[in-house]
Amino acid sequence: MAKIIQKHEECIGCGACTALDPINWEMNGDKAILKDAELKEGIYSKEVENIGSSKDAENACPVKCIIIEE
Ligand code: SF4
Repeated sequence: MAKIIQKHEECIGCGACTALDPINWEMNGDKAILKDAELKEGIYSKEVENIGSSKDAENACPVKCIIIEE
């Protein structure tokens, strides 16, 4: 299992994560949100079996607000 985390307030809405990993990310207004994730105190997080393209999204995020814990 791995965990995908997004520090939501830091997102600048560039759209890189939604382009690279649309299974996990979608735009909502001017920020991206992590699909099917829990939002707690400004942090989205969810556990996934397979990180798939999440690592690409983490690497591409210009403000490094995506964190993958493996
Ligand atoms: S790549 Fe980072 S800054 Fe860009 S939309 Fe996704 S979470 Fe936001």
